[in-house]
Amino acid sequence: MDQNIEKFDVVIIGASLSGNYLAFLLSNFNLKIAVIEEHQEIGLPFQCAGIISKKLTQLIDLPKDIILNQVKKAKIFSPSGIYIRLSGEEQPYVIDRVALDKLFYQRVKSNNKIQYYLEEKFISFKYITEKHKKSVLIETNKRKLKSKMLVGCDGPLSSVSKLMGIKNKLIYATQIRIKANFDQNEAVMWFDPKWKELFGWIVPEGNKIYRIGLGSSKNVAKNFQIFLKKLDVVFDDKLDQQGGIIPYGYMNKSAFDNILLLGDAAGQVKATTGGGVVMLLTAAKYAAFCIKNCFKNNRFSKRYIEKLYEEPCKATIGKQLKVHFLIRTFFETFTDADYDMLFQIVKANKIEEIVSLYGDMDFPREMVIKLLKNSMFIKFIIRIWRKNPLILIKILKIFI
Ligand SMILES: Cc1cc2nc3c(=O)[nH]c(=O)nc-3n(C[C@H](O)[C@H](O)[C@H](O)COP(=O)(O)OP(=O)(O)OC[C@H]3O[C@@H](n4cnc5c(N)ncnc54)[C@H](O)[C@@H]3O)c2cc1C
Repeated sequence: MDQNIEKFDVVIIGASLSGNYLAFLLSNFNLKIAVIEEHQEIGLPFQCAGIISKKLTQLIDLPKDIILNQVKKAKIFSPSGIYIRLSGEEQPYVIDRVALDKLFYQRVKSNNKIQYYLEEKFISFKYITEKHKKSVLIETNKRKLKSKMLVGCDGPLSSVSKLMGIKNKLIYATQIRIKANFDQNEAVMWFDPKWKELFGWIVPEGNKIYRIGLGSSKNVAKNFQIFLKKLDVVFDDKLDQQGGIIPYGYMNKSAFDNILLLGDAAGQVKATTGGGVVMLLTAAKYAAFCIKNCFKNNRFSKRYIEKLYEEPCKATIGKQLKVHFLIRTFFETFTDADYDMLFQIVKANKIEEIVSLYGDMDFPREMVIKLLKNSMFIKFIIRIWRKNPLILIKILKIFI
């Protein structure tokens, strides 16, 4: 074996939230870990609207200064401008995403078992077998590393998942931060069939600054201009601009011999909102448990990683991600008139109350079950179904 090859127990690709949080969770296990990040500074470029449910503080110990604002209510607009108003217990946080990415890096960077390689790009890997034991030989643009485990935390365009034959469907998003006079306590979503896979958003950051963005699989820049015009916002007044890519679907295959995928790389993102933070933090806990046991029991097979990581993820966040995808699959068939009809039904039949009471940004199953007990809602679903009989096949594909 080449003397210049550096040896680690775990190599993590990507030092954004998934990679840093996993390194933090593994930091007490006495493992030698390398984290490879192609950018120079952790957290940058910043690519997030930063709106995250209150589960965030149940999942991690969050310093107060990372929370910039808390949203008390939400308005959801149909394409023609009919809106429903939601208020309730949800009240998500608006966070400083750069600070959140840096938080776990700062907690582990002085740990002499964890080595960060910044401004370094993962290129490829191959399996090697020595004395009947399989491990992974990893190549970056600067070095070679040998490791028992490789973890792909390298985001929506993950090279690790591509090498495992997985390709995410992608949505493109753009966002500006701007000073304006909207409501500081209110998040806003605009639906439109033109940008059918996601929506336009206004997220109040605090101090009269708003994050206004839009996600769509095509013509994002053009659709964003239409959206800003609708809001009477001038693009050139922006403080700064962000862009980014969001995986679209529900959880991918994420366990392989000596390898696992986490976060956007594994498609652990809600198809309704593009939000991934709560999902990846939940999955990271299973990933850390799995990796710890792989080393304890000297077992690194695909089956073992499936059992300890992929299956628990699928049984928890995976189930919910399927419901998000189901909701989005319905929305994708909507015309302007369908949106208007749905919003009118919601307003006239106390469905706003159901959504306010049972709506959960991350775990929508309970709300969907309640909605399916409402006769007007069922009639609407049957109408959509009749217009698009193929939707049944799409839904069966999600759940079978
Ligand atoms: C515009 C936008 C708005 C969003 N808003 C929200 C929101 O409001 N709430 C929410 O919960 N989620 C939101 N999300 C989703 C959320 O940002 C992601 O789910 C989350 O960032 C995923 O984290 P990650 O660590 O898995 O991947 P990423 O954050 O994508 O990080 C991947 C890291 O890997 C590095 N990398 C990639 N390839 C390589 C390579 N070959 N070598 C070395 N390093 C590499 C990248 O530089 C990056 O640092 C939004 C996403 C976008 C794009």
